[in-house]
Amino acid sequence: MVFYCDTCGKELTVDEGTLSWSDDDNCIREFRITHKHDQDHSCAQKDVGYVHLWIVVGISGFIKFNERLTDYWAKGYTLKDPNGLKKALSQIGAYIWEKSKIQA
Ligand SMILES: [Zn+2]
Repeated sequence: MVFYCDTCGKELTVDEGTLSWSDDDNCIREFRITHKHDQDHSCAQKDVGYVHLWIVVGISGFIKFNERLTDYWAKGYTLKDPNGLKKALSQIGAYIWEKSKIQA
């Protein structure tokens, strides 16, 4: 099970990837799974949020990411990029699913 970088299109191992997004102007958007140096967001670097892929594909990391999203909603942030977030979640979900089958 491999990931592909949303920016350069090359294969991405779980150890080298990040899930990143931009969080300026009270909205979150541009969710993407990329190499760290390919995050490539349109906002200022200080407004880029990210989590390492190897962390977010673990159960506790995944829950933490959901808590982080919950904090955004609680602060009144809007999601400008539902498809980007859904695509990232579905790739992460597929990875977790594959991994759980191997371990079973
Ligand atoms: Zn890349």
